[in-house]
Amino acid sequence: MSAQAFDVVVLGGGSGGLAAAFRAASHGARVAMLEPSALGGTCVNVGCVPKKAMWLAADLAGRLALASRLGFDVPQAPGLSWPQLLQRRQHYIDGIHASYRKRLQDTGVVHIARRGRLLDAHTVECGDGTRLQARHIVIATGSHARKPDLPGAGLGGVSDDFFALQAAPARVAIVGGGYIAVELAGVLHALGSAVTLLVRGQRLLSGFDAEITAQLADNLRQQGVDVRFGCSTQALRQGDDGIQVQLEDVPAALVCDSVLFATGRAPNTQGLGLEAAGVALDEAGAIRVDAFQNTSVDGICAVGDVTAQAMLTPVAIAAARRLMDRLYGGQPEAKLDYANIPSVVFTHPPLGSVGLSEEQARARFQQVTTYHSRFRPMLQALGDGQLRTLFKMVCAGEEEKVVGIHLLGDAADEILQGFAVALKMGVTRAQLNDTVAIHPTSAEEVVLMG
Ligand code: FAD
Ligand code: NDP
Repeated sequence: MSAQAFDVVVLGGGSGGLAAAFRAASHGARVAMLEPSALGGTCVNVGCVPKKAMWLAADLAGRLALASRLGFDVPQAPGLSWPQLLQRRQHYIDGIHASYRKRLQDTGVVHIARRGRLLDAHTVECGDGTRLQARHIVIATGSHARKPDLPGAGLGGVSDDFFALQAAPARVAIVGGGYIAVELAGVLHALGSAVTLLVRGQRLLSGFDAEITAQLADNLRQQGVDVRFGCSTQALRQGDDGIQVQLEDVPAALVCDSVLFATGRAPNTQGLGLEAAGVALDEAGAIRVDAFQNTSVDGICAVGDVTAQAMLTPVAIAAARRLMDRLYGGQPEAKLDYANIPSVVFTHPPLGSVGLSEEQARARFQQVTTYHSRFRPMLQALGDGQLRTLFKMVCAGEEEKVVGIHLLGDAADEILQGFAVALKMGVTRAQLNDTVAIHPTSAEEVVLMG
């Protein structure tokens, strides 16, 4: 069978794959992109986008409560039509799909709605047996949720199942203490569920600043989420009154209507023909890449979650764009700098973080100073809300270079981006202090700290 020839074949049409395809096409390359499922991958269909829609709804629920305390004529417990919310969410996602389809057409990227697997370093076989040949192959097949191997695990769902919910379950147990666990806990609680968060360690979000995550745990408890540390989930069983969650050293099972595992994600490397092509994996099963996204095989590159480097949409996109700038855009040194990547955990209020936690900074630098701003934001104070804001800055050296900014508070998701630029450019505390504040805002506290 004769193979169709391209410059680039991309496996996966999620955040990284689409970005690679579009950027390569913009440099004049002939591109084929294989995506057997919905365009946009995890982020658009079962990740960032529907999550943010649910977060925004949950945020509004909190603001309605504050509004009623400020004197607005809002019912004490305003009802929510989940079907309507889900319909608005899907409508928004349909719009993204349509814009991708149009862009694929406009840029001449050939979209093949099939799975692909490697036959060798320059040949991909599509699900229907068609063969494609290319100078470069980009693997951007993403990741999937991982469930712990315990009896009855099949009774529990993962984040994909959260997005399929048609109403808030009355009682939910969430296993995990990472990004997805705390985000889903906040949303489900705000939209009406009684939520128990089962964390195996002694803190939330390991890798984030410990003081900030302790405040986050306080916030969740303040809101009514039952946060339990040191909880090892042993088994799930179907009981008459719900799913029984058996915990280690706790005689009575926790009974709930729904269990969600948010226990990490594993790279999608199965069935890709990686062994046949000789592509090396790391100990965790992710595709091993160098700083330029090259795999161990010349001509095959990988970006995004499948490489397990900072599993975030903008990271997959940025890595893909730089890769294509290097291969087809005449920029031989283009590569992503993985240091100081900002991210936001969409809790209520959100947690934004860039750079080093205090613990990480102390392990790296001799001289570390930290600054804090703890306050009740104006809307909370006006509405008699109890949620506190905690901002923290971590500085290193005599000159107090800012090496970490951690913001837990209203609008932290929007505030952080600009400060992330400053941190990446090497800002010092004195330079932040030298910037005139914008008043009255929460953001001003960042330039007033010290
Ligand atoms: P994906 O977007 O997963 O795309 C991979 C694609 O490859 C899929 O569409 C899949 O169908 C396709 N594929 C798989 N195998 C094959 C094959 N053999 N051939 C062809 N195609 C194949 N990140 C953020 O930055 N902000 C957030 O707020 C955020 N929220 C999240 C919330 C949740 C619940 C989850 C699960 C993730 C969230 N993320 C967030 C992470 C983000 O979604 C991922 O980091 C991002 O989607 C990774 O992009 P990717 O291109 O590597 O993979
Ligand atoms: P995380 O790695 O963030 O968290 C996994 C959690 O599960 C940790 O608390 C971990 O505990 C715990 N865990 C792991 N295995 C077990 C087990 N067997 N039993 C009990 N607990 C366990 O993964 P997530 O699934 O939350 O999210 C995956 C990735 O997706 C994130 O790392 C992030 O990159 C991305 N994401 C980004 C978002 C954003 O940008 N807002 C939102 C959602 C996801 P321990 O710490 O003890 O290992």
